[in-house]
Amino acid sequence: MTNPTLSVPDNLLSQLESICTTTTTEDALTEAARDWWPLISWHIAQKDTPSYRPLAVCRPLNTGEVSQVLKLCNSAKVPVTPFGGRSGVCGGSLPVFGGISLDLRGMSGIVSMDNTSLLIEAKAGTFGHVLEGELRSREGLTLGHWPQSIEISTLGGWLACRSAGQYSTRYGKIEDMVRSLEVVLADGTVIRTGGHAPRSATGPDLTQLFVGSEGTLGIITQAELSVHRLAKAQESKVFAWSSFEKGLVASRQILQRGATPAVLRLYDSIESSRNFSLGYGSEIPPGSCLMIVIDEGDAEIVQATMGIVTQECHEAVGMNTSLADHWLQHRNDVSILDTLLEAGVVVDTVEIAAKWIQLPSIYSEILDKLSGLDGILVASAHQSHAYTDGACLYFTFGGQEPSPRQVSSVPLIKPSNIQWANHFYKTAWESIMDTVIQHQGAISHHHGIGLLRAPWLAKSLGNSMEVLATLKKSLDPNGILNPGKLGLSSSFGDEVDLPLPFGKIYPRS
Ligand SMILES: Cc1cc2nc3c(=O)[nH]c(=O)nc-3n(C[C@H](O)[C@H](O)[C@H](O)COP(=O)(O)OP(=O)(O)OC[C@H]3O[C@@H](n4cnc5c(N)ncnc54)[C@H](O)[C@@H]3O)c2cc1C
Repeated sequence: MTNPTLSVPDNLLSQLESICTTTTTEDALTEAARDWWPLISWHIAQKDTPSYRPLAVCRPLNTGEVSQVLKLCNSAKVPVTPFGGRSGVCGGSLPVFGGISLDLRGMSGIVSMDNTSLLIEAKAGTFGHVLEGELRSREGLTLGHWPQSIEISTLGGWLACRSAGQYSTRYGKIEDMVRSLEVVLADGTVIRTGGHAPRSATGPDLTQLFVGSEGTLGIITQAELSVHRLAKAQESKVFAWSSFEKGLVASRQILQRGATPAVLRLYDSIESSRNFSLGYGSEIPPGSCLMIVIDEGDAEIVQATMGIVTQECHEAVGMNTSLADHWLQHRNDVSILDTLLEAGVVVDTVEIAAKWIQLPSIYSEILDKLSGLDGILVASAHQSHAYTDGACLYFTFGGQEPSPRQVSSVPLIKPSNIQWANHFYKTAWESIMDTVIQHQGAISHHHGIGLLRAPWLAKSLGNSMEVLATLKKSLDPNGILNPGKLGLSSSFGDEVDLPLPFGKIYPRS
């Protein structure tokens, strides 16, 4: 890997140190160079120290300090890459052109609560479980945002990536919850978007401009969010469908009748047996697709919602609700990933969204393509988030070199099969992205673009990509904010040199 040479003023570090805690230890720099993108995990496990490490990690404690860091880096033309929990799975927080990694975790906590309007204001570096814990214990409130990564991700990261929680069908995605943002622009200017009233007709929605911008347009330091009183009632139901397509039709009809059960998940037959066989296998009719439905809230609304669900699922087999309890207990357990990586399996997950009319074709075409890959062990999907007009499909693929040259208990992909692993990973991603674009779906539903999906964003957005590029130039003329991400061109180079599997990523494909 090569890194473009940055020219940095001699006294930059001492100036940063005078603003906030600034670290240059080996451990801090190496940690800042990784997130949860499986590609990076493999790379680090090869003991290959990334050359795209930052010069320093700055940890501001308030908005004023963020503003000063940006002002300084902007005049010195030094890249600034923000991060929260670094739980992103697309390489979004990797400082690929060096510069400063901006650690926002020092800015944590709830700033204010309005129990009448059910609005709160919280700092961007607050971890999910801390935010939810405080809301519950202090005021009996909930945000209703339950990403699987709740304990390792922050409010700022959720907003930057348009995150979705497991209860999103009732509470919405993070972009539905946010009312207003405090953002620091590249030149250090602090702005406030929205927030005056529940709705407005005061020009375009500038809050949503920054939601999903993945740190490329500004640093989110604080957010106003809509919250809810804790649910008084909860009910669950489980159904077994004879096909994935039939389950999709039922999901659509439930949503289109106006019912919004908090959780509405449909697993294909492979995932149904994989996720629910432990202790429950004998109950599930072979080959069936499980639908988990959980609702919570006002008792009467929950009852009405579950009534609609029952009507729309009358053709499915009703199952024991202990399967829903099983899902609730195990929903955040990802320990299987380590086991697979240790066994040398190349594995990743890909979430996309599309209209109902396209979903059956997208599902079957992608599974056909993945199943044809040399070395494929598993290709499966579930529907994880549903809307009146479409849904999110969440694919999992995993594979292993067909005739491993070396079977070993030593973790990770051995150098002998790296070439196969690269080809497998790249082909799997290409198959999924190309199919989704062909069907005019969204190439990401909630993980975002980062580096991983950068090669496909321009194709996906069409000529509106130019509008994004123009906004970037206008808000960040020196291009210091998270360069190399979101498929935007960068003032620090046109290529991001990564070890595996794409080699050079061309931000503007
Ligand atoms: C096991 C696991 C399960 C997951 N499950 C879910 C899930 O259910 N739902 C879901 O939506 N996602 C999920 N994710 C993905 C990840 O948790 C989300 O993308 C999350 O929003 C990232 O938050 P973070 O604080 O870790 O951000 P980071 O990874 O630190 O950063 C992500 C991106 O946001 C930018 N950024 C971070 N903070 C700010 C800020 N304050 N201002 C501007 N830009 C910023 C970074 O530069 C980067 O581009 C999962 C990840 C893992 C590893």
